[in-house]
Amino acid sequence: MQSFEFVRAPDAAAAIAAAAKSNTAQQGASVRFVAGGTTLTDLMKLNVEHPARVIDINELPLNRIEPLPGGGLKIGATVRNSDLAHHPAVVRDYAVLSQAILNGASGQIRNMATTGGNLLQRTRCLYFRDTAMPCNKREPGTGCGAIGGYNRNLAILGTSQHCIANNPSDMNVALAALEATIHVQGARGTRAIEIADFHLLPGDTPQRETVLEPGDLITHVTLPPPAAGSRSMYLKLRDRASYEFALASAAVVVTTVDGRVTRSRVALGGVGAKPWRSPEAEAALTGQPATEATFHAAADAALRNAKPQSQNAFKVELAKRCLVYALKQATRDA
Ligand SMILES: Cc1cc2nc3c(=O)[nH]c(=O)nc-3n(C[C@H](O)[C@H](O)[C@H](O)COP(=O)(O)OP(=O)(O)OC[C@H]3O[C@@H](n4cnc5c(N)ncnc54)[C@H](O)[C@@H]3O)c2cc1C
Ligand code: SF4
Repeated sequence: MQSFEFVRAPDAAAAIAAAAKSNTAQQGASVRFVAGGTTLTDLMKLNVEHPARVIDINELPLNRIEPLPGGGLKIGATVRNSDLAHHPAVVRDYAVLSQAILNGASGQIRNMATTGGNLLQRTRCLYFRDTAMPCNKREPGTGCGAIGGYNRNLAILGTSQHCIANNPSDMNVALAALEATIHVQGARGTRAIEIADFHLLPGDTPQRETVLEPGDLITHVTLPPPAAGSRSMYLKLRDRASYEFALASAAVVVTTVDGRVTRSRVALGGVGAKPWRSPEAEAALTGQPATEATFHAAADAALRNAKPQSQNAFKVELAKRCLVYALKQATRDA
């Protein structure tokens, strides 16, 4: 039997969750926050998640998008994906974020889904969502059904011998390229976590997906001011044109001066165990002429450590082509 509660202040929400003295942020949590509910209620219906208490955070004052003094943007945790994608400041200064969100799910789901919930959406690995199957992420120690099983859609970067699931979010890929910071309120007060440090690789503990601790509530996300003269682009490749998760995607933020790349930020989606920022690709781009040859070198660097599974070797070439095309588009006529 589940209890549903509403809260109206972030500290009350964090306190209730922390007082439960149990897991609230990782697989098997006995207390869960619910925002849009588009991930959580799905998983509760499948019996993958079975929290005893569900705390509705929709009445918290966390639904605003505000400019930051000195530039940058503050995005509340319960801002709906649709509102974020269409916000004038996002469309103007962070086009890659708007494009990434609008490439995800459907209009109806984006109207419900929130910034905090999207950051914490779970893998679409079929074995994770089926309690009759072995899955180290859902039930540590039971094995990984996907290794040697159906793994066409899963990760090729950052995997381990215990889990090869990918992070399915489009928004997270754009946030990685934009170097977002996640702000959290919890039992230890408030803290700010760079997105690069927020999601964890599976390693030996695939059930632990983020650095969140019991009671932690995401309150907002901040974006640094847009890099001067930069152009950005999100490209998503998938099995059908809409309402489908990425097989491979690329978020790029690039500045060129006199035909040379002076600054670049590159992140890949669909292929990584977490939103996959690629310092290797960025190093291959920076200082080089903005040509197709440079973009191919960057793509080769980004995928150099890829470890394909039995069904998804095609993703290596797909992700390379995706990144090259995104870079070409972002630097076109620059
Ligand atoms: C059919 C379908 C298709 C989809 N297609 C795509 C797609 O193509 N691309 C894509 O990126 N996504 C896709 N999604 C996923 C969708 O974007 C996510 O379900 C959504 O973003 C989750 O947000 P939410 O607010 O509904 O989260 P919820 O379901 O409310 O919460 C998700 C998790 O986050 C936790 N949580 C929520 N808010 C907070 C907070 N502030 N602090 C701490 N914990 C919190 C909850 O406890 C829960 O564990 C799809 C979903 C569906 C159902
Ligand atoms: S890939 Fe990860 S989520 Fe999928 S079955 Fe293996 S352990 Fe579970």
